[in-house]
Amino acid sequence: MARILFVASEVYPLLKTGGLADVSYSLPLALHGLGEDVRVLMPAYRDALAKAGELRRVAEFAVRGQIVGVLEGRLGPDGPVLWLLQHACYDHPGNPYLAPDGKPWPDSAERFALLCRAAVELAQGRANLAWSPDIVHGNDWQTGLVPALLSLEQPRPATVFTVHNLAYQGVFPYETFQGLGLPQSLWSLDGLEFHGQLSFMKGGLVYSDRITTVSPNYAREIQTAEFGCGLEGLLSRRRDRLSGIVNGIDEADWNPAADPSLAAVYDAGQLDGKAANKRAMQERFGLPVEPEIPLLCFIGRLVQQKGVDLLLQAMGPLLQNSVQLAFLGSGDPVYEQALLYWARREPQRVGVVLGYNEALAHQMEAGADMFLMPSRFEPCGLNQMYSQRYGTLPIVRAVGGLADTVVDATPEALAAGRASGFAFAEASAQSLLEAIQRGLALYRDKSAWTAVQRTGMSRDFSWRGSADHYLDLYRQCLSEH
Ligand code: ADP
Repeated sequence: MARILFVASEVYPLLKTGGLADVSYSLPLALHGLGEDVRVLMPAYRDALAKAGELRRVAEFAVRGQIVGVLEGRLGPDGPVLWLLQHACYDHPGNPYLAPDGKPWPDSAERFALLCRAAVELAQGRANLAWSPDIVHGNDWQTGLVPALLSLEQPRPATVFTVHNLAYQGVFPYETFQGLGLPQSLWSLDGLEFHGQLSFMKGGLVYSDRITTVSPNYAREIQTAEFGCGLEGLLSRRRDRLSGIVNGIDEADWNPAADPSLAAVYDAGQLDGKAANKRAMQERFGLPVEPEIPLLCFIGRLVQQKGVDLLLQAMGPLLQNSVQLAFLGSGDPVYEQALLYWARREPQRVGVVLGYNEALAHQMEAGADMFLMPSRFEPCGLNQMYSQRYGTLPIVRAVGGLADTVVDATPEALAAGRASGFAFAEASAQSLLEAIQRGLALYRDKSAWTAVQRTGMSRDFSWRGSADHYLDLYRQCLSEH
C-alpha cells in the first residue's frame, strides 16, 4: 500500500470548472477503492466549504510566516480523506482562477504558491499531522511548484505531475518569482524560467520524477511544436519520464440505466428509452418534436480549443440538411452571441442554453443522436466517452484523447463491429461537415446505427482500468526513487 498525497486546485463536487475536477475526484476514489492510502489536498474556497459536508480542523502550521489551517473531511461517504487548506486568500466566491470581470484573480500566483508550499510542508511531515506520503501527485500548473520545491529537500517523497491541459501554464513576471521568495537556484532555463518569466508549469515538468498526461496520444502531441505550447523541447527531452493514461469516467454518475436526470432510463439491450429523452430535449430547447430528425448537440466551454469557431463556420451548410442542433455552454462572449444569433435566425432548428447546467448535460447526452466535439486540441475529453455510454455517436476531431477513445466508423471498423463514432483529421469546417455527412448517412441505416450505438455503450471507460495504470506508475516511481 502506498501513501499518496494528491494535490489539485479543483475537486468535484466541491468545486469544478472542468475535467480536472472530475479526475481529482474519481482517481483518488478509485485508488482508495483499491486499498491505497490516498489523501486529497485542495484550497478551502468559500464555495467548496459549503459543499464539503462535515469537517474538523486537524492541523495548523506556518508557511513563510503565514498561518494556514487544515480542515479534514471525506471525499464521498466512504471515500478517501479530504484536506482543505484554509487561509484568507482562498475566501473568494465563484471561479478560483477568474474574477467576476473574467480576468485572472490578481493574487493567483500567491494563492497557488501557498498551496504548493503547504503541500511540501505536509509531504515533509512538518504540518503537525501524523502522516506523510511516499508519493506526491500534483496536477496542472497550480501545483507545479511542489516538485520544484521538493527537489531541494532530502529525503523527500517521489513526485508525479499530471498535465491536464498544457495550454494553461501559470506564467508570471520575474517580479512575482522574487515576491514569492522562491529560492534563486530554481531560476534558470533548466528550472522555472520561461522566456524571462516564472512558469509554474515548468516546475512540474522539469522537477517531477514522472510526468503523465491524460491520454497517450496527447503525450506524443505535446512533444511537437503544434501542441507543445513552447514546452515541446523540454517534454521531448524528458520523454522517457512522460506517459499518457486515459481518464476514466464516473460510471455511476454517467449511467443511462440509472440516471435520475433523464426522462426515461435505458441500456444497450433496450434502447427505446432514448426516444423519450429526445422528445424531452426537443421540448427543452424549443425545437419541434420530431422523432426522426437527427438531433446533434454540443456541450462545453465556448472557447477556441473546443472548435466552436469551426462549428459556427459550418453552421450555414449544416443547416441545409434536415437536422436540429442544441448547444449548452458558456465562455467567450463572441461565441455566445454568435450562437444566440443562429438560435434567433433558425428557432425551429437551433436551440441554445448559455450557462453551466449539469442535469441538462445528462439530458442532452441521452436525448441527442450525435455529439459534436471538433476540438483543436483535447488532452483527453470526457464528453465523447459519456456520449458513447449514452448511445449518442460522437463526431470528433482525431486529436489528443479523442483519437484514443473514439473508433472512427470506417468501412473496416464497421465491418469488424469496432466503430463507435466519427473522427476527422483537419481542423476545418469542411472536414467537420464531411464527418457529419458520414454520420447523417449512417443514421439513415437504422440497424447499422444501432449496432454502433451498442458498441459504444458496451465499451469500458471505467476508472478501474486507469487507476491500475497509475498504480503501476507509482510502483515504478517508488522502485526507482
Ligand atoms: P474541459 O476540461 O477541457 O472543459 P472535458 O470534456 O474534459 O473538457 O470536461 C468538461 C466537463 O465539464 C464535462 O464533464 C462536461 O460535461 C462538463 N461541462 C462543460 N461545460 C458544461 C456546461 N455548460 N454545462 C454542464 N456541463 C458542462
